[in-house]
Amino acid sequence: MAQLVVLGAGLSGTLMAYELLPQLRQGDELTVIGQGPRYHFVPSNPWVAVGWRERKDIEVDLEEVMRRKGIRYLPQGARRVHPKESRIELEDGALVAYDYLVIATGPDLAFDEVPGLGPNGFTQSVCHLDHALKAREAFERFVQSPGPIVVGAVQGASCFGPAYEFVFILDAELRRRRIRDRVPMTFVTAEPYIGHLGLDGVGDTKGLLESAMREHHVKWITNARVKAVEAGKMTVEELDEDGNVRKTHVLPFSYSMMLPAFRGVPAVRGIEGLTNPRGFILIDKHQRNPVFPNVFGIGVGVAIPPVSATPVPTGVPKTGFMIESMVTATALNIGALLRGETPKAEPTWNAVCLADFGDSGVAFVAEPEIPPRNLNWSSKGDWVHYAKIAFEKYFLRKIRRGESEPFYERFVLERLGIRKIKEPA
Ligand SMILES: Cc1cc2nc3c(=O)[nH]c(=O)nc-3n(C[C@H](O)[C@H](O)[C@H](O)COP(=O)(O)OP(=O)(O)OC[C@H]3O[C@@H](n4cnc5c(N)ncnc54)[C@H](O)[C@@H]3O)c2cc1C
Repeated sequence: MAQLVVLGAGLSGTLMAYELLPQLRQGDELTVIGQGPRYHFVPSNPWVAVGWRERKDIEVDLEEVMRRKGIRYLPQGARRVHPKESRIELEDGALVAYDYLVIATGPDLAFDEVPGLGPNGFTQSVCHLDHALKAREAFERFVQSPGPIVVGAVQGASCFGPAYEFVFILDAELRRRRIRDRVPMTFVTAEPYIGHLGLDGVGDTKGLLESAMREHHVKWITNARVKAVEAGKMTVEELDEDGNVRKTHVLPFSYSMMLPAFRGVPAVRGIEGLTNPRGFILIDKHQRNPVFPNVFGIGVGVAIPPVSATPVPTGVPKTGFMIESMVTATALNIGALLRGETPKAEPTWNAVCLADFGDSGVAFVAEPEIPPRNLNWSSKGDWVHYAKIAFEKYFLRKIRRGESEPFYERFVLERLGIRKIKEPA
């Protein structure tokens, strides 16, 4: 009999628990440790921030679903993982022992690395549902007295898609309210070019996103390092290719949303052998930690090196489908260990992404996400907006039902040739 623990109940941790269930033997027990009783669908946060979604639309009562599925759910959160002792200390002091642990704790948001950044400073965030709700209150105040908007992603950021989504969603909402003509918009990003996305682009994301920016009258600054944010003012250094300051911009704003850099969460940061210097979980090609082989890492919290050096540091995004491939590989590998076999499953890290612009959008498929790729495709159109809404509903239904990949999803992906697990060499 084995004790399996999944730490973190966001996108990756919740799916992980559902995918581990069929791997369990009689008597094995599965525990999920979350922070609070509910799951929320992070990709919908930009819609929450402009009032297109309410909290209740994107939340799921996890305690109820987990109970139904026979999974023990502990909502009190973890204070510290102790991998040498194979146990976890919870925030209330309780200890949870494990035979196998999957760490799925997502990102810690490093707002403190830029003075004045974040919801406790002068910019908004859509990284968490609570931030998005706060961003919405600020947006409602903003529309009473419109002025310049600055949106983007700071140095060290790895998640750029939501910044592009949010600038175009704001544009769509301002047009709907007939006040777009009173709002100069600037996109500020650490990326070396528009559409780089931390991935050196996918298909023609450079052309598609640049042209969308021009069509929607959004100016941009790339290779941008945000020095400081004050009330209504952002100081940004624009670097040249050699990393020297080319120009310093002082951007006035009445509303700003900037994505921060990510790092590993405090419960795992600074554990030698488990994490890298930024607190991301070190993993091998089976999603397994090399020093503590009964620990696996999945999701945004795992360590992946940048695709290439950029004048301003950028990281690789860990996108939804890529994360699902990590989940499937980990479930198969833990299942193998439970049966006394050697873990062999390797995730493809393929990426299938829909970036919503409020009334259109850009889609891309990168197989695998890290270049060079077998498939490198992107496209723009109204259909992306509707596909994203459909995906949101479909995904939340899966979480509510306690399913990870229903047979029809597997069938469709197989037909499209999009795989989660690499074929054996
Ligand atoms: C705003 C935004 C929009 C995005 N949109 C898309 C998109 O459209 N498409 C796409 O492919 N990707 C998107 N992503 C990227 C990615 O798919 C999401 O970030 C996804 O939620 C990552 O899943 P995760 O499980 O790694 O982290 P999360 O979903 O953030 O889950 C981590 C969980 O761990 C919990 N946790 C942290 N510390 C502890 C602790 N000590 N104890 C217990 N629990 C803990 C957290 O509370 C959280 O619930 C988006 C990311 C952001 C930020």
